[in-house]
Amino acid sequence: MVSAKVSSLIQKLYLDKDFVKLVEEASKQTDLNDYELGILRLLKKNLYNFFKLPPEFVKEYAKVTNEGMVAWREAKDKNRYDIFSSFLKKIIDLSIKQAEYLGYDNHPYDALLDNYEEDLKTSDVEKYFESIKPTLVEVLKYIKQSKKYTSRIHPLEKETYNEAELEKLNYKVLEHFNYDKNNLRLDRSAHPFSQGINTKDVRITTRYLGRDFGATISGTIHEFGHALYDMQTDDSFDFTPISNAVSLVLHESQSRFWENMVGRNLEFLRVMLPKIKRLGDNYKNYSLTDYYRYFNKVKPSLIRVKADEVTYHFHIMIRFEIEKMMIERKVDVKDLPEIWNSKYREYLGIKPKNYGEGILQDIHWSMGAIGYFPTYSMGTVLSAFWAKKIEEEVGNISKLVKTSEGIKKIQKWLKENVHQYGPTYTVKDLLKKKFNTEFSVEYWKEYIREKYMELY
Ligand code: MG
Repeated sequence: MVSAKVSSLIQKLYLDKDFVKLVEEASKQTDLNDYELGILRLLKKNLYNFFKLPPEFVKEYAKVTNEGMVAWREAKDKNRYDIFSSFLKKIIDLSIKQAEYLGYDNHPYDALLDNYEEDLKTSDVEKYFESIKPTLVEVLKYIKQSKKYTSRIHPLEKETYNEAELEKLNYKVLEHFNYDKNNLRLDRSAHPFSQGINTKDVRITTRYLGRDFGATISGTIHEFGHALYDMQTDDSFDFTPISNAVSLVLHESQSRFWENMVGRNLEFLRVMLPKIKRLGDNYKNYSLTDYYRYFNKVKPSLIRVKADEVTYHFHIMIRFEIEKMMIERKVDVKDLPEIWNSKYREYLGIKPKNYGEGILQDIHWSMGAIGYFPTYSMGTVLSAFWAKKIEEEVGNISKLVKTSEGIKKIQKWLKENVHQYGPTYTVKDLLKKKFNTEFSVEYWKEYIREKYMELY
C-alpha cells in the first residue's frame, strides 16, 4: 500500500542520524529569531512523534486508515454500518495505542488533540464547550420562539440553477476578493477542500449539487479563506518542512471569517445580487432580504457541513463527547449509531433517518482523525475575534466588503497580523505576542447574540 510506504519513508528520513544531530545542535543555539524558533519547535514535535511511534505501528496505522476510508465510503453508499464498524473498532484501538506511545499527562485524548492543535487539552475543550453552551441554548431558544422562525425548507434551498451561471458567480466572488489566477485555481470535487502546495500554488474546490446555490458559494468562500492564509504566508517558508500553517484552529478561523463575516454579510450579498439573479428565472422574484435570510437561516439539521452558525457547534460537541467515550473505552462500536442518534435528539431535537445522516456522516474517523473536530468549533469562535479587531483597526466590515479595495484592506490586515507568520507561533503565542490576549469566547458570544437576535 503506497501511503503506508510513504509514511514509513517520511519517518525514516526524519530519524536520519545526521538530521537529528542538526536539530539537536540548532536547539542549543541561543540567538534564534521567532521564525527559527518556530521551525525548530515543529521539527522537534515531528521528531518526538516519530521517535515514539514504532515503525510497524506507523505502517499499520496507514494501512488500516486507508482500508477504513474505502470501507466507510462503501458503508455510507449502501447504508450499512456493519461494513465499517470493524474498521472503526481497529481505528479506535490504534488511536488509544497511539496515545499510549506518545504519552500524555491527564487524558489519552490529549495526545490525539495535540496531533491537530498543539498543546490543546481535553480539559480545555471541556471548559470551552461549557462556556459556549449556555449562549447556544439561549440563542437557539430565542430563534425558535421568534415569529420569523420556520422549520420548513427555505424555497431557495429547492430552487434549481443554471450551473454555468453559478460557476460565473463563483469566479465573480473570487474576483471581488482580488484573486490572482496565477496563484490560485478553483476546481470541482465531491467535497470542497483547499490544498496549499506553496504560497504561489494553492488549489481549492467547490461542488455543484443542482440546487441550494448558497451551499456552493459558502463552500467556495470558506475554502478561499483557507487559501488566502496559505498564499499570504511569508514565502521564505516555501519548500521548507513547515511551509504551511499547522494550527487547525487558526486555519479554520480564517475560512470561517470569510464564510460567515464576509460571505453572509448583507452588503456583500448586495454586491453579488445582480449575478445571483441570473441563476435562473425564479431568482428574480426574491429580494435582497430574502437572500440574506436564506444565507443566515438557523434551523436544527442533521448534516454538519450544512449547519448554520448557531447549531454548528452542537454538531461538534456531539462528536467530541463521542470521541472522548471511544478513547475512554466506554462504548462498544455496535452501540455508536444509537448513541449518536440519542445525542442529536437531546441537543437538536432531531433524529437521522439513515447512517449517512448519522454515524457515517463524516470521513474523519475512517482516516483516523480522532481529535480533529474540536478545532472546527474553536476556529469558528476565534473568527469573531478577528472580526472585532478588523472593525477596530481597519473599519466597518459591512462597508469594507462592498468593494475589492475594502476587501484588500482586510486582506492586508490579516496578512500583517496572522498570515505572514505561517506556523511560527501556536495560537496561544500569537494571541499573546501580537494582541496581548488569550483565546476567549466572549467576542463570539457578543457576535452571535447581536446578529441573530436582530435577525429573528
Ligand atoms: Mg475548513
